[in-house]
Amino acid sequence: MIGAGHAGRLESDYIECSAHWCLGQTKTTMLMEKTLFEKIADREIPSDIVYEDELVVAFKDIDPKAPVHILIVPRKPIPRLAEAEPVDHSVLGHILLKAAEIAKTQGLEDSGFRLVINNGPNAGEAVPHLHCHILGGREMQWPPG
Ligand code: 5GP
Repeated sequence: MIGAGHAGRLESDYIECSAHWCLGQTKTTMLMEKTLFEKIADREIPSDIVYEDELVVAFKDIDPKAPVHILIVPRKPIPRLAEAEPVDHSVLGHILLKAAEIAKTQGLEDSGFRLVINNGPNAGEAVPHLHCHILGGREMQWPPG
């Protein structure tokens, strides 16, 4: 089975890498590395996972910027929001719905919370695997820095 997000390609265009499907026949493509967040989702790198299902994984940020700081990431390694495709419509909606549920389970229902998606260098994106920050437990400033 081929992961979503490669519309217009034939199954024969793909080779199976260790963890996901890749386009191409070259060794370079075969050696395509998992992203940091794929390794966390696959438990190759330890983290404090607070929620997971077939589409997303949510875990505590290693360097929290608020008393509650959780990252929710799609299992599919979409590099960033600007590279999501129409086929990603439901996973993007799922991220938002689950982010609100997770915020509730973290005790943020009444005090509120902020969701942040950094896209590209000016926004401070550091990990090229789409992730939504769930921040709460303190008052936030506006506008953000
Ligand atoms: P960005 O700046 O790309 O929006 O956010 C990346 C986030 O990933 C940062 O808040 C950073 O602290 C977090 N992060 C980076 N490496 C790790 C890691 O190995 N484990 C966890 N749990 N979070 C990480």
